[in-house]
Amino acid sequence: TMDYGPAPEADNHVTAWLASHEKGFKHFIGGAFVASKGKDTFEVVNPARDTLLAKVAAGTAEDVDAAVKAARKAFPAWSALPGHERARYLYAIARHIQKRERFLSVLETLDNGKPIRESRDIDIPLVARHFYHHAGWAELVETEFAGYGPVGVCGQIIPWNFPLLMLAWKIAPALAAGNTVVLKPAEFTPLTALAFAEICREAGLPDGVVNIVTGDGATGAALVAHPDVDKIAFTGSTEVGRLIRQATAGSGKKLSLELGGKSPFIVYEDADLDGAVEGVVDAIWFNQGQVCCAGSRLLIQEGIAERFLGKLRRRMETLRVGDPLDKSVDMGAIVAPVQLQRIQDLVKKGEQEGGTLWQVDCALPARGSFFPPSIFVDVEPSSTVSEVEIFGPVAVAMTFRTPDEAIQLANHTRYGLAASIWSENINRALDTAARMKAGVVWVNSTNLFDAAAGFGGYRESGFGREGGREGLYEYLKPDWEKSLPAAEDSKAAALGVAP
Ligand code: NAD
Repeated sequence: TMDYGPAPEADNHVTAWLASHEKGFKHFIGGAFVASKGKDTFEVVNPARDTLLAKVAAGTAEDVDAAVKAARKAFPAWSALPGHERARYLYAIARHIQKRERFLSVLETLDNGKPIRESRDIDIPLVARHFYHHAGWAELVETEFAGYGPVGVCGQIIPWNFPLLMLAWKIAPALAAGNTVVLKPAEFTPLTALAFAEICREAGLPDGVVNIVTGDGATGAALVAHPDVDKIAFTGSTEVGRLIRQATAGSGKKLSLELGGKSPFIVYEDADLDGAVEGVVDAIWFNQGQVCCAGSRLLIQEGIAERFLGKLRRRMETLRVGDPLDKSVDMGAIVAPVQLQRIQDLVKKGEQEGGTLWQVDCALPARGSFFPPSIFVDVEPSSTVSEVEIFGPVAVAMTFRTPDEAIQLANHTRYGLAASIWSENINRALDTAARMKAGVVWVNSTNLFDAAAGFGGYRESGFGREGGREGLYEYLKPDWEKSLPAAEDSKAAALGVAP
C-alpha cells in the first residue's frame, strides 16, 4: 500500500504541483498537454520512501505519431529562423531553469532518490549551463557550420540516472541546430521532463518544437520505429542500444548511442593518495554509482595498495546513507526496487566467485531502496563483477605492477566510456591518458562534465558525442545530402557513411 504525496519536508511548491496533477500527467504535444490515446498509466514512485508521487500516461504508438506530426509541422518555421533568434529561446529556457532551480532540484530528488546536494549543486546548474552553452552555438551555427543544416525531427530516449540533465544534453543541441524533437523520458523518472514542458511554454517556445511523450520501452520502441523520424538519439543500456541499432539499420535514420561503461580508475604509487581517495568517493558513490562513466574498476599500483585501501576504507565508513532530502546525506536511494535487486544479485555473484566484500555497516532506512557503499577487493580481472556494469555503489579493486600492466588491465573491457588517472608525474599521466581506449579521460579528477566538451564512448559504450562542437554534428547534416535521392540516402546511412 502506498500513501499519496511526497515527503512532508519536500518543498511546498513541489507538493502543490504534484497534487494539482493528482488525476495523472498528460503528454506534451504541439505545445499543449494532451490526454493519451490509450487508457494505461504507470505509477511514479519516490524510491527513498516507497510513496506514490504521480500517475503518468503510458504513451501509445498513436501518441507517438501525434507527437512526431507536431514536430514535423513545427520544423519548417523553426529551422528557418536565424540562429540568433533560436538562441533567444534557449537563453530564455536557461533562465527559467535557474529561476525554478529549487523546485526542479527537489522534484528530481523525490523522483530519482539522489541526494538534494547533488541535484541542487550539480544536476540542475549543469542543465542551465547546457542551455546557455547551446544558445551560444545557435548564434554561431550559420557561420561555424556553413554547408550544414538540421537533420529534421529527432526522437530522443533518455535514462533515469540524470533525468533532467540527460534531457538537456539531448534537447539543447538539437534545438540550437534547428531540429524539432520528440523526447521520451525514462519510466522511473519522467517528472522533471514534464516540468520542463511547462518551462517551454513559459519561455514562449513555438508549439511542436519540443514534444514529450511518457511511457516505457514500448513507447520508446514506437518512437524508434516511426517512419517520419530522421534521427534517434539514445542514452541507456548497451542491450537496448543494440536493439535500437538493429531497428534503425537500413532505415536512413541518423543514430547516436550513449551506452554503458566499466571505467578504470588508475592510482599510481606517486599519486596524492588523499586526493585519490576523494576521487574514488566521487567516482563510484556519487549518484549511488548509477553513473555511466563511474570509475568502477580501481586499479592500484602494488606498492601503495595496502595503504591506499586502508585510507579508502576509513573514508568509506564516514559516508552517510539516508533520506536524500537531508542536506548532509552523501548517498540517497537506488532508483527502483528492480535496480536494487540487480545490484544485490551481482554482489552475491561476486561473493560466490570468491571476492572479498567491504561494505559500510550503516543503518539503512527501513523503507525505500538503499544499498551501502561497497568495494570488492582482490578480484580477478575476469570475474563477473570486474566485467559487468553493476550500475550501483559497488567498486572492484585490483592491483598492478607496471604502467604497461595498468594500461592493459584498464583497456581489458568491452566498454570504452571513460578513464581516470591519478599520478603526480604529469608525463606518466599524459602518456597513460593517450593509451586509454576511452572517450573521456580525466587526470587527477573524475566525473567532471562540461557542456563545451564532447562526451561519448567507444566499442560497447556506443558512438557519437554529446556536448561541444563534436556534439553539434550529431544534429546536423551536410547540405549535399539533401540532393541525394531518398534511396541513396538510406543506403549511405545503412553503410554507416558519416556526413
Ligand atoms: P534502459 O536501456 O533500460 O532504458 C533507457 C531508456 O530506453 C528508457 O527511457 C527506456 O524506457 C527506453 N527503452 C527501453 N527499451 C526500449 C526499446 N526496446 N526501444 C526503445 N527504447 C527503450 O537503461 P536504464 O536502465 O534506464 O539506464 C541505465 C543504463 O544507461 C546503464 O547501462 C548506463 O550505463 C547507461 N547510461 C549511459 C549514459 C551515457 O551517456 N553513455 C548515461 C546514462 C546512462
